[in-house]
Amino acid sequence: MEKRLILDTDLLQITINRLVEELIENHKDFQDTVLIGLQPRGVFLAQRIQKRLNQRLNKELPLGLLDTTFYRDDFRRRDIPIKANATDIPFLIEDKKVILIDDVLFTGRTVRAALDAMIAFGRPRLVELLAFIDRKYTRDLPIQPDYVGQRVNTIKTQRVLVEWTDQGAENDKIWLVT
Ligand code: 5GP
Ligand code: MG
Repeated sequence: MEKRLILDTDLLQITINRLVEELIENHKDFQDTVLIGLQPRGVFLAQRIQKRLNQRLNKELPLGLLDTTFYRDDFRRRDIPIKANATDIPFLIEDKKVILIDDVLFTGRTVRAALDAMIAFGRPRLVELLAFIDRKYTRDLPIQPDYVGQRVNTIKTQRVLVEWTDQGAENDKIWLVT
């Protein structure tokens, strides 16, 4: 196993700050915009983005959590028991602009499932996708991110190791594992 550092803690924070500025560029004061992090690991990123946005806009932005487990197209094809995470969207998404947030975009199947899961909560006016790592050339579906932290060339056997937890951002790191 070979590990190559893609983003260290400093660069990771710089990237989050840049993504936040891009979001503000498009969503101004976030009047009609809500954030939804995809379970499990998109949530940590969504929390970091929300925190930074709150600082920048000086208000508390709504953040929901969405679990896609039961909406996946491979849901019934698994031979191991399924462990689902919580979905918690404590606001209306009807007519809102929704920013879906995930750590890694790979085949696009998770995002497709997320769109399905989200529609059960209402009909947003607009949905955008923020992916912190965009694994290029690996999509199975016509899904592309609107905001990207870093694009990484990967082959199927490689994996992006995202090290972040709910314990704060001091040790955040992203690696490419071969
Ligand atoms: P997709 O459904 O697009 O194939 O995969 C995206 C989902 O699987 C994301 O929610 C992401 O968390 C996870 N994922 C896919 N590839 C990787 C990877 O290389 N590293 C990590 N950490 N997660 C991945
Ligand atoms: Mg995930």
